[in-house]
Amino acid sequence: MNKIEHIGIAVKDIEVSNQLFSKLLNTQPYKTEAVESEGVITSFFMVGETKIELLQATHPDSAIAKFIEKKGEGIHHIAFGVDDANNEISRLLGEGFEMIHQIAKAGADNKMIAFAHPKSTNGVLTEVCSDRDQAS
Ligand code: ZN
Repeated sequence: MNKIEHIGIAVKDIEVSNQLFSKLLNTQPYKTEAVESEGVITSFFMVGETKIELLQATHPDSAIAKFIEKKGEGIHHIAFGVDDANNEISRLLGEGFEMIHQIAKAGADNKMIAFAHPKSTNGVLTEVCSDRDQAS
């Protein structure tokens, strides 16, 4: 894995949190994007080489809605940038990690993404992501 690409934070109201994180990070979000397949609206802030991704649920069945119901707002996942998400999925499966996605899928911010199940990663929901045009 190459770097921490972003840290995902579950929020209840992305408008309110965009303002909060703009003040906290002293920068504006560079993008807001809905990911309908995940039932989320996302916004991204650049902090050096790493991004902060805010995620708000758009419907009560969304994984983000369930996360907030259980744990409240806060850090949801850590995303590692890799050269090729599908190669990384194969590697992680080979190491015995449980993958939520066996094949990388289109995510926000022009990435191919896959999640490892937190029960196989010490409770840390772990995402691997690669640039969409470089994914196999
Ligand atoms: Zn993410």
